[in-house]
Amino acid sequence: MLSEFDLIKQYFKRHRPGRAALGIGDDCALLAPSPGMQMAISSDMLVEDRHFFAGADARMLGHKCLAVNLSDLAAMGARPVAFTLALALPAAEPAWLGAFAAGLFALADLHGCELIGGDTTKGPLTICITIFGELAPGHALRRDAAIAGDDIWISGTLGDARLALAGYRKEYALDDAAQRMAGTRMHMPTPRVALGLALADARLAHAAIDISDGLVGDLGHILAASNAGASLNVDALPAGQVLAAQPQALRRQFCAAGGDDYELCFSAAPEQRAAILAAGAASGTALTRVGTIDAAPGLRLVDAQGRALDLQLAGFDHFASA
Ligand code: ADP
Ligand code: MG
Repeated sequence: MLSEFDLIKQYFKRHRPGRAALGIGDDCALLAPSPGMQMAISSDMLVEDRHFFAGADARMLGHKCLAVNLSDLAAMGARPVAFTLALALPAAEPAWLGAFAAGLFALADLHGCELIGGDTTKGPLTICITIFGELAPGHALRRDAAIAGDDIWISGTLGDARLALAGYRKEYALDDAAQRMAGTRMHMPTPRVALGLALADARLAHAAIDISDGLVGDLGHILAASNAGASLNVDALPAGQVLAAQPQALRRQFCAAGGDDYELCFSAAPEQRAAILAAGAASGTALTRVGTIDAAPGLRLVDAQGRALDLQLAGFDHFASA
């Protein structure tokens, strides 16, 4: 049986020069932001049976727990620097730990984000990451910064992760290929780090948030913080590849209120449209304009013809017949 210290040494301590002045091994890590920069700090916790199924693939779990944290940095426009990892594990299983670390470090290395410490304990499988990024003062993409007249933009596509969940739960029938493809969106989200950086660096966007709990709810956080309302064209929402082939009612539902998308929703002045599309192209991210920030409070959902839509978003759990 591995001791706690062997486990950390074997799976999480890496012998390579890092950004931190002191990494894993002492009571604290030591980390300084680059001169003149602010630190952006966020934590996200994944709990077995709540955020992922028991028995979930360890490599994908390693990817996802860091991806959801990177997504928070992206939504702020911050550059990833480092993270800590607090792990509760029912047992020290080498195969599980190896796969988890491989998934985690593959994504960490892609973003130059260094593991600088953490905590390890026995317990029900729980993964908590705290991530540190940096950005120039005044450049953060805050939730309270939307302005009436702004366009509302969405990165990538929405709804496939929620569709995968519906398939796993047998609430909706998907064939194996569709289930696998949608499942990849659920298990391996792509944090939009390069896009967030481009939007913040050049001050192209006003407010931003990452869509983790469903667009309508998350956009609602921007509206509440910014004291504004919005009109959202539900039929303009970019559906994921698998969802796009499903009936309209399900498309609307899962695009507007799916969850687990980890795309960015941001607001920006209409004068920035060309520059924003260029930033999307440069970061390899599709961008879609889906609505407008209004001075009048409330969120108005409309269809492609501009007619008001009365979607029962919260209560729509029994959609097997959609
Ligand atoms: P303490 O006794 O202060 O709780 P620990 O014995 O928990 O310290 O940890 C020893 C070192 O290993 C610390 O530097 C800590 O940050 C690091 N560490 C512990 N668990 C992890 C982990 N899961 N991933 C990365 N570093 C870890
Ligand atoms: Mg400890």
